[in-house]
Amino acid sequence: MSDEMIASVLVTGSSRGIGLELVKTFLKRSKPPQHVFATCKNPTGAQEFIPLLKQATQEGPKDKMCCSKASVINITSELGSLSKIPNVFLSFPAIPYSCSKAALNMLTRLQAETYKKDGILFVAIHPGWVQTDMGGPQELKKFSEKHENVIVIRLDSTDSASINATVKQVEKHLNGKNLDLLINNAGVLNPQSLETQTAEDMLQVYNINVVGPMLVTQAFHHLLKRYGEESNAKSAIIHISSLLGSIEGVPKMFSSFPVISYRCSKAALNMLACCHAVGYKQDGIISLAIHPGWVRTDMGGSQALLSKEESVGEIMKIISSLNETQSGTFVDYKGIHTPW
Ligand code: NDP
Repeated sequence: MSDEMIASVLVTGSSRGIGLELVKTFLKRSKPPQHVFATCKNPTGAQEFIPLLKQATQEGPKDKMCCSKASVINITSELGSLSKIPNVFLSFPAIPYSCSKAALNMLTRLQAETYKKDGILFVAIHPGWVQTDMGGPQELKKFSEKHENVIVIRLDSTDSASINATVKQVEKHLNGKNLDLLINNAGVLNPQSLETQTAEDMLQVYNINVVGPMLVTQAFHHLLKRYGEESNAKSAIIHISSLLGSIEGVPKMFSSFPVISYRCSKAALNMLACCHAVGYKQDGIISLAIHPGWVRTDMGGSQALLSKEESVGEIMKIISSLNETQSGTFVDYKGIHTPW
């Protein structure tokens, strides 16, 4: 697919890591796409803090048992302050986040009252606006402000309502034209061994790494599909997979990276990529799975071999020369065939 053939691309999970780099690199092509739909779970940078809430609930009584004068600090946010909402809502309309922090503040108050008699202090602290990974989407936001063809849209790839809302926005921008390229990049890795793997984690990782790409692709199929006179033109779906999903690769790399749920999910994603290649062939859609290499991102860690720029630079070369013969394959970032 030459530069001219990609007028529109949608990337999932573009708040950071490989996804953000893909978005930036598309803009550096000799003829950048007219529409780069940079989708991310949380464009405002806010996260839902249900796990923190749960942790706070569980840790109250636990601390009580450890020491007689325990303190519990619940890290909250001023976005959870009802009195501050009139000032901050328009700049940070992070509804699930604000609600969860308000709930955490309430929980802190209830805990404080309940455990006062036991000598336990409960306090909710707003840490300020700190530069952390939570600031990630801010980089995407700043980037999109400088490039009018980058359109940032909220998309949680596991949430059908969010996907359908994104489809509607994309349809509006494309105004009857095709979506040329869909990159299912969003993914998670929870390091679990055969001993520690839980059903809950297995399902959660499968949901994000497999069900997500399945739902997203299903929802965008009608925009990817080529009709009538355009039948020679192709669209493409790229699934960002991993060498850790290679079944043949297990004996070589298992002991270094057991990561059970991740490995199984990527093997399943490879199967999905193959099904898309066969099932959508008559619609003029190419589908393949790409291993991006071991990349220095939040997921890959600082010891990884490749920078994001190196990995994505190579992936761009694959995209530029993409054709039907590669559909249904699994290649690494250099375009070399990877065993299933
Ligand atoms: P990061 O952890 O840096 O980024 C993951 C991205 O996925 C984030 O943007 C995250 O969004 C997004 N995401 C997670 N869950 C969802 C969801 N439900 N809906 C939408 N977005 C979601 O990882 P990488 O950039 O390293 O990884 C990108 C892809 O590359 C993944 O599929 C990964 O498996 C694959 N890969 C990475 C390798 C590496 O070495 N880094 C090696 C092999 C494969 P948010 O910021 O909101 O959490």
